[in-house]
Amino acid sequence: MKYAIVIPDGAADSPIEELGGKTPLEVARKPNMDNVAMSGRIGTVRTTPPNFSAGSDVCTLCLLGYDPAKYHPGRAPLEAAAMGLKLAPEDWVFRCNFVTIVDDVMVDNSAGHITDGEARTLLEAVIKQIAPPGTGSPVIFHPGVSYRNLMTVNGGDFSRLATTPPHDIPDQPIKTHLPKGAGSQMLLDMMQKAHAVLKDHEVNLVRRQFGENEATDIWLWGQGRAANVPEFAQRFGKQGAMITAVDLLRGIANLLGWQNIAVPGITSYHDTDYAAQGRYACDALDHYDIVCCHVEAPDEASHQGDYATKIASIESIDQYVVGPILAKLQTFPEWRLLIMPDHATQCSTRKHHDAPVPFAMAGSQRKGAVPRPYT
Ligand SMILES: [Zn+2]
Repeated sequence: MKYAIVIPDGAADSPIEELGGKTPLEVARKPNMDNVAMSGRIGTVRTTPPNFSAGSDVCTLCLLGYDPAKYHPGRAPLEAAAMGLKLAPEDWVFRCNFVTIVDDVMVDNSAGHITDGEARTLLEAVIKQIAPPGTGSPVIFHPGVSYRNLMTVNGGDFSRLATTPPHDIPDQPIKTHLPKGAGSQMLLDMMQKAHAVLKDHEVNLVRRQFGENEATDIWLWGQGRAANVPEFAQRFGKQGAMITAVDLLRGIANLLGWQNIAVPGITSYHDTDYAAQGRYACDALDHYDIVCCHVEAPDEASHQGDYATKIASIESIDQYVVGPILAKLQTFPEWRLLIMPDHATQCSTRKHHDAPVPFAMAGSQRKGAVPRPYT
């Protein structure tokens, strides 16, 4: 049996007035998805459990059969998995953002999307101050992309520590959102030391001259320990592969013991090479039992409030990803195809929404007709 899953990230939406009260998915011309829907099964399903917020981390775990309440290791451990960072059992890992804080207000959770080069220079200065190599410090910083770094602490107990994601408190005073609970003093000390180093660092002086948001502080959050997630093959007896342009999804694939297949030219936006992703997915079906094809573009368009691009991205996914996969699957005697967004993202609010998402699935030897690829 061959299985393919296509995840058009954030493709679900609410009715939009300018679209005559229809959703982008309803309006998009998507003959392949329509065929799957008409000959297979459709429905809606909840991917955001109670007490979780809708995001690709939570919802994709749910979609793939991993209950977030049991298996979601926290934001930082997921990202550590994406970076291929091996955590020791006694390690704690934190997200370490470069942020812009002005007069104790969180002005920017990304320090103006600071460049990788600037972020690395600043992180080196912070490391020198907080945890110089060779001093036996249990703290290690791991540079990531732009403002997104990780920090590990070997030992300690942060299980009763409360932290706040910086993107949840835009333009709000930080005072009540600083780390609280056991272990918080250590973090507050580090944040204070980092501030002293960053305040007048030459990288920031240059940013100031250019009117760009400065990396005034580090913000520690999203902590957790090494993820304890049973591999997919162990649970379901199937070897899987993931194709995505997004680190978080690569991290989930690593946790599941899936192969990440790199595809040149794929991005998080509508400029992605849809056709290349479709081709690589078809190839991967020859080698793996289950191939998961994640496309970020509809989500990014929704965050821009751009329903026209969202519709265009759904149409491209239909033509260049679903179509070829559907044709390829029919060369195997037994197959299943699931098309389902991880979560809804509303163009109206430009945010994720935890409403149930629609799905369509079809396959060989199911009741009803076998869907044909649209040509
Ligand atoms: Zn999103």
